[in-house]
Amino acid sequence: MTTTNELPDFAPVPHSAHGPAVNEQGYFVGRVEKNLYWVTDGGYQAAFLTTPDGVVLFDAPPTIGHNLQRAVDEIASANGVSNKVTHLVYSHHHADHIGASSLFGKDVVRVGHADTKRLLQRYDDPARPLPDVTFEQDHTLRVGGERIDLAWRGTNHTPDNIYLHLPDHDTLMLIDVVVPGWGSFAAFNVNSDVPGSMAAPGTALSFPWKHFIGGHLGRLGTRDDVVLHGQYIEDIAESARAALSTVDPMPFYAKYGDNTWAAVKAYLDTATEYAAAPVVRKYAGVLGAADVFIASTTFVILESLRLEAGVGLQIHP
Ligand SMILES: [Zn+2]
Repeated sequence: MTTTNELPDFAPVPHSAHGPAVNEQGYFVGRVEKNLYWVTDGGYQAAFLTTPDGVVLFDAPPTIGHNLQRAVDEIASANGVSNKVTHLVYSHHHADHIGASSLFGKDVVRVGHADTKRLLQRYDDPARPLPDVTFEQDHTLRVGGERIDLAWRGTNHTPDNIYLHLPDHDTLMLIDVVVPGWGSFAAFNVNSDVPGSMAAPGTALSFPWKHFIGGHLGRLGTRDDVVLHGQYIEDIAESARAALSTVDPMPFYAKYGDNTWAAVKAYLDTATEYAAAPVVRKYAGVLGAADVFIASTTFVILESLRLEAGVGLQIHP
């Protein structure tokens, strides 16, 4: 049994990381811009656009679940518009972001990347019906006179993760890459492609927008949040490069002898800690939980530098 006082302590989370409080039913719904709204349960985020022809929903996280329709109902009745969800856009195939899709029935038009369909076909999950409309590179969805530009710009968090741009609402939605106000989730947001994810903030900033929906935790983001995340990750990479050229692996092999994995583990743990320490100091009080998942995120970035970029590898003389 774990008791509270055995659990580790972490740096305090700055006030700037937090968003609005949720209501009694466990959600908050608010306007992003004009008829675009966002919904959060404090952990996950979705968004929706009300139009004269029905509602376009962006993602359906199961943690928000039935509160998605409640949030739509609340806004639709306040504004005297339709509460019928007619379209559901998938950001990517992950169940934690679209696993409440089936709540919206068979008649809703589901839209997603061709790879989202391909990846969902692996699982045959009734909670996540396949998209009806797919695209490869760019797709403009028009519903009730509104415009939604969907763009695939390469692999990042997953192979199918897309940029959802609403140019008339000054908004960009990109899920599981930047968590506004916070450090990354474990293993660099459980990453499929480290260089792709490091490039993603720059790609996000190449679109014109003011409001950012990142998919996680309790608040929206700004361009400054995306710049800050990019800097945080660049700092981890720079620090990991320094670790690879500074931490000497020889003492680890000397101590562990024929237990090669023990030597490699102890070396990588030491290099990761060496790389993470200055980043934790720099971002304490700037990003929430900059210290919490830093070890696994730094490890993933360090291994990408070593194995993919070839940093620090030497040819035997
Ligand atoms: Zn994901």
